[in-house]
Amino acid sequence: MIDNNLRERLTRNWREVVNEVRQAEADFGRSPDSVKIIGVSKYVDTETTLALAESGCHDLGESRPQSLWQKAETEKFSADVHWHMIGHLQRNKVRRVIRHQCVIHSIDSRRVLAAVAEESESLGRSTSVLLEVNISGDDAKTGFAPDELTSVLHDLPIRGVTVLGLMAMAGWGTDSDDARTQFDATRELRDRLQQDSGVDLRELSMGMSGDFREAIAAGATMVRIGSRLFEGVVDRG
Ligand SMILES: *Cc1c(COP(=O)(O)O)cnc(C)c1O
Repeated sequence: MIDNNLRERLTRNWREVVNEVRQAEADFGRSPDSVKIIGVSKYVDTETTLALAESGCHDLGESRPQSLWQKAETEKFSADVHWHMIGHLQRNKVRRVIRHQCVIHSIDSRRVLAAVAEESESLGRSTSVLLEVNISGDDAKTGFAPDELTSVLHDLPIRGVTVLGLMAMAGWGTDSDDARTQFDATRELRDRLQQDSGVDLRELSMGMSGDFREAIAAGATMVRIGSRLFEGVVDRG
């Protein structure tokens, strides 16, 4: 069990983040509750993740597939918790991840898209996914190049996946102006792709602890927030 001080701190952090996200919605003319907060629990163990869920954060994101399934398979989490896979997914881990009905934000190749479609279809279901776009152009970042996406959307598997939108990260070390520029570019890319492909790309997963206001200003519908939630709770070195 985690102690009560940590639990209170976690609850306070969660409420602050919720307030800041709602404030950003208001400041930038977004509809109330149009932005979903994914609590990125990759920094903490199962007990602390559970405490976050009990504070009211019912969307949990993990960047390593093993961590996602280890936590989900404890069966400690209530049925209203939804899991989000936000990091690179290898094909041999697809089957065990999709059992948890998670949203996969990090589809970064045609191969993994095809694997998710195939495994989901074999389970008689469809998995919700986002296509990750390397908007900053950093070589170190994963994701499709923006100009690959037209053909990816054209060739979508017919069954097994439902593409909901795009996911993007600002490049390393970008300041808030650059982050805003990159998020605006992601939204414009989404608008263009949606128009050309006819695929409904309603979700934009972008914005983390340091840049979620910029992302919300640019049209994010999902923000992925980790370190802000765990301030004073865990020492991340
Ligand atoms: C870790 C991580 C986050 C959260 O980052 P913070 O800066 O800790 O809020 C968001 N998205 C992805 C893909 C991550 O790996």
